[in-house]
Amino acid sequence: MTKIEIISELFLDFNRDPYKNKPLVEHYVKRLYECDITLLTRAIKELTNERDTLPRCKEILAKYGSFESKVESYRNNENCELCGDTGVILGVFIGKTVVTSLNYLPEGEYCYTSVTGRCSCDASKNWSPNLPDASPLSCIREYSKSEKLDCSMGASLLCTEINKRSRSCEKAPINNISRSTLELKEELPF
Ligand SMILES: [Zn+2]
Repeated sequence: MTKIEIISELFLDFNRDPYKNKPLVEHYVKRLYECDITLLTRAIKELTNERDTLPRCKEILAKYGSFESKVESYRNNENCELCGDTGVILGVFIGKTVVTSLNYLPEGEYCYTSVTGRCSCDASKNWSPNLPDASPLSCIREYSKSEKLDCSMGASLLCTEINKRSRSCEKAPINNISRSTLELKEELPF
């Protein structure tokens, strides 16, 4: 639905012919130009239920603003060490495996961070309640504490560390080369 259609419908709801009132409809569309269409539709729907006369632009904007402030993100009062105020918990993964040890040495696989679930702080309310509740693994807590970082930053740094470690391992002498690299070499035809 376009804004002209939304406003035309609003006029019709209040028994005002949008074609006869074209300049006024255009005025509404112009005033509501910057509004997000979903929130605007919600605001107009509520006003239509509440009012018996056509709401003014100012009133629509006020209603719209009240939705917009609700959509605005939840913030933590105190810094959350568990998620770094992102509201979600990061885990360090290699393939589909969660890294549970700081000494993990991946065999040629790339390490990455991914969301494992929602934190328990206020910022987590910005995320879908369908995400499971989570908290950082003890190895990430331990690592982040030693690096004086929140667990979110800690997980990212740990990830970089592990990738560095695995790269330096690839460059190491033959007895340190990982099994998967050897297997790969054995498959070569020469
Ligand atoms: Zn948190």
